[in-house]
Amino acid sequence: MIGVAVLGSTGSVGVSTLDVLARHPARFRVVALTAYRDIDRLYEQCRVHGPEYAVVVDRAAAERLDRRLRSDGVEVEVLGGEEALNTVARLAQVDYVMAAIVGAAGLPPTLAAARAGKRVMLANKEALVMSGRILMDAVRDSGAELLPIDSEHNAVFQCMPPDFERGLSEVGVVRILLTASGGPCRNMAAPELASVTPELACAHPNWSMGRKISVDSATMMNKGLEVIEACWLFNIKPSQVQVVIHPQSLVHSMVQYADGSVLAQMGNPDMRTPIAHALAWPDRIDSGVAALDIFAVGQLDFERPDLARFPCLRLAYEALERGGTAPAVLNAANEVAVQSFLDRRLAFTAIPQVIEKTMQSLATQEAGSLEVIHEADRQAREVAGRLVGVGAKKGYA
Ligand code: NDP
Ligand code: MG
Repeated sequence: MIGVAVLGSTGSVGVSTLDVLARHPARFRVVALTAYRDIDRLYEQCRVHGPEYAVVVDRAAAERLDRRLRSDGVEVEVLGGEEALNTVARLAQVDYVMAAIVGAAGLPPTLAAARAGKRVMLANKEALVMSGRILMDAVRDSGAELLPIDSEHNAVFQCMPPDFERGLSEVGVVRILLTASGGPCRNMAAPELASVTPELACAHPNWSMGRKISVDSATMMNKGLEVIEACWLFNIKPSQVQVVIHPQSLVHSMVQYADGSVLAQMGNPDMRTPIAHALAWPDRIDSGVAALDIFAVGQLDFERPDLARFPCLRLAYEALERGGTAPAVLNAANEVAVQSFLDRRLAFTAIPQVIEKTMQSLATQEAGSLEVIHEADRQAREVAGRLVGVGAKKGYA
């Protein structure tokens, strides 16, 4: 039996992961589940999946969950606080760790899992954006396995030859074509974008996801973060990662080879496919996703992205070019701006403005240690927080 810890089990990816795990009770055992504070959902998950541990970062909520489980006779050890995330990621009885916490908060337990030599199934792209070098080195040094859950990167992984780590030019890979749906604002004219609401931004046409990544998809920062993610995962240059708008979200990405071949991975847009792939790799298991009906699809469209209407993508390429702490600064400023937008304190079109100004006001350092990265993250949150405050007063457009 393979022991699995699901970090961020109460979120969108977490729930999909538990759905796949429950289809294979003879193969996987749920060892640990974690939430930030949604104890109602975590309580239900404890009853259904019977983990050994449940972590709740909010300590008061952890105590409430503990009382409730005890009084109902459900035997689960409840741990509170941030450090407990690292504890469960390192447990000896945990073989696989699903890293599905949203944002920078996911970095420490993801790194803990990598350092402990686990199979790390990475949904938390922000961890790689912030500290790609450190995370990739940790994976290599400990002999951990890193399998991408992000649908595009999982698709690329599936289209790569098994020995791609020898070097992409060695194995004849020329380019990655990273597909993007374009999000709910794909066809909006620039003036319309200023009045996009959180409801509209979160209504993704093809995918059902958490609120932060939904806004990132609407601004196309999600694709920007994914370009950075692809560079680390596949050791490829930014100029070899081409973003392709593909509104149907059925081709999840492609790899182009020196002989003219382009390999694509296709499927219905449902995160249970990449999750099942990473859980079973190199085998294949049932994910619960319906087979793709190619005749019902009929047509596939591909377009170039519009960097003028969606400057977040340009900013991500800039951060990659600067290197060092620049992607961590981009990520932190984005998290602050997106939260303010969701709180209705910032206009949709001000999100890239806050990020660009934050990037301009902080010098790039070498990202040699976690301390340096955390300091860059802290400073970027401070600067972006101030900019958001000014923006809210002036009514940023
Ligand atoms: P959700 O917002 O749905 O879930 C986030 C999870 O993280 C919840 O379990 C939440 O707990 C927990 N969490 C939030 N803040 C903290 C914190 N500070 N410390 C510890 N735990 C925390 O997010 P998604 O599932 O949509 O996304 C998760 C990650 O996967 C993101 O990095 C996203 O970019 C990536 N991803 C998601 C995809 C999707 O389809 N949703 C696709 C590809 C990548 P609680 O419920 O208690 O708040
Ligand atoms: Mg994705």
